[in-house]
Amino acid sequence: MADFFTMTTTPNAVRTRFAPSPTGFLHLGGARTALFSWAFARHHGGTFVLRIEDTDLERSTPEAVQAILDGMAWLELTPDEGPFYQMQRMDRYREVIQRMLDEGTAYYCYSSPEEVEAMREKARAAGLKPRYDGTWRPEPGKTLPPIPADRKPVVRFRNPQDGVTAWNDMVKGPIAFDNSELDDLIIARPDGTPTYNFCVVVDDWDMAITHVIRGDDHVNNTPRQINILRALGADIPVYGHVPMILGPDGEKLSKRHGAVSVMEYDKAGYLPDAMVNYLARLGWSHGNDEIFTREQLVEWFDTRNLSKSPAQWDPKKLNWVNAHYIKQSSDADLAARVAPRILERGGDPQAVDLADVMSLLKARAETLNELAEGAMLFCGPYTPADPALMAEHVDDTARTLLADFAAQARALPEWNAEGIDALIKALLATHGVKMPKLGIPLRLVVTGQKQTPSIGHVLAILGRDLVLERLSGY
Ligand code: GLU
Repeated sequence: MADFFTMTTTPNAVRTRFAPSPTGFLHLGGARTALFSWAFARHHGGTFVLRIEDTDLERSTPEAVQAILDGMAWLELTPDEGPFYQMQRMDRYREVIQRMLDEGTAYYCYSSPEEVEAMREKARAAGLKPRYDGTWRPEPGKTLPPIPADRKPVVRFRNPQDGVTAWNDMVKGPIAFDNSELDDLIIARPDGTPTYNFCVVVDDWDMAITHVIRGDDHVNNTPRQINILRALGADIPVYGHVPMILGPDGEKLSKRHGAVSVMEYDKAGYLPDAMVNYLARLGWSHGNDEIFTREQLVEWFDTRNLSKSPAQWDPKKLNWVNAHYIKQSSDADLAARVAPRILERGGDPQAVDLADVMSLLKARAETLNELAEGAMLFCGPYTPADPALMAEHVDDTARTLLADFAAQARALPEWNAEGIDALIKALLATHGVKMPKLGIPLRLVVTGQKQTPSIGHVLAILGRDLVLERLSGY
């Protein structure tokens, strides 16, 4: 693993990061943020960094880290650097905290949580914003209270009290906060561990991040982070806060809307390219283009085309996009992706030429699972048709037709769909009957099912020997 400290970076080269907290799987919103950060870096020939924000020990799990790595690998969003883990950077955070204490941009605060709560209450009662009252904030000429015995201090950032902190958001446009609205943020807890906003700042600084693309639930953190970066003399990244993804019902996207881990979409039979295409359109656009390759996305990706309003999850559209990618995929590629799904269903993917099956089914399938289910006709165990159905459709005429079909099928010079279809047509003409009279009995006897895709193709794929064997019983 490359270490970013040893890396030489070109000045001003674009560097983006995806910085998930590993408290669950990689959900759709996270995947989209990762995608935008990735596409932006690629578009500018820059670097995409993966950083795992695992300092919340109670909520972070190794399984969640793995789920994030799996999700990104599935979507083929490969980081150029990382994953870096915040838990491995504690010494660095402590070092920066000490530096800020030395430089006077941070200070020890000995107020107890109860005292801080009382300050907040007082402010509330006076109709002001609840906040820490600055008791321990050093000011020129101010005498600080005596340090209470046996109390471990927190470290607070000495936030500027005047002026505004503003940035031109890549998505939302200009945003400004009055510094007077911002509290002196705690950057280290009594046990010395750094807090969330502080770690983000040190990492963005050390990793030379130039552009931060993240969810707009972080807008309120941004002025705090900018002020700390300024206090450190660091360059301020360009920020872009993307609106959330809403469910089909217009509510916040949640587990209620079904699968929200990207890996659930893998399980359900979506292609990673389709997912990337669909996710990119959630809040980003390039004219009216709905279908585009990764290369086009990278070429076109421009934050000016990120939408200010929330995007809406639309499962029907995802299916439409997936169906498109299935149609575009080669038969061999689909066969490779569908084979394990056939095994899962108890079928044998090698029973027939699976690529032929894909060629037959792909025009109508919306997911790989549908392809797998369709392929079970060829790869699954053969179950004879329901006797009642047989009795209904296989009468004496049908038996004669089936016998004639078997005899002539044996003699066909080549076993392919065209030849089989021509044979069926000729038999119908000779016997003066319509297609269902032969088609249904043929399907029932050979496949056990009344409905199948085009019978000529089905029989061609099953192979002459198997077809004749199943017909021989009738
Ligand atoms: N770790 C944060 C999250 O998962 C993201 C922090 C950031 O992008 O600055 O929401």
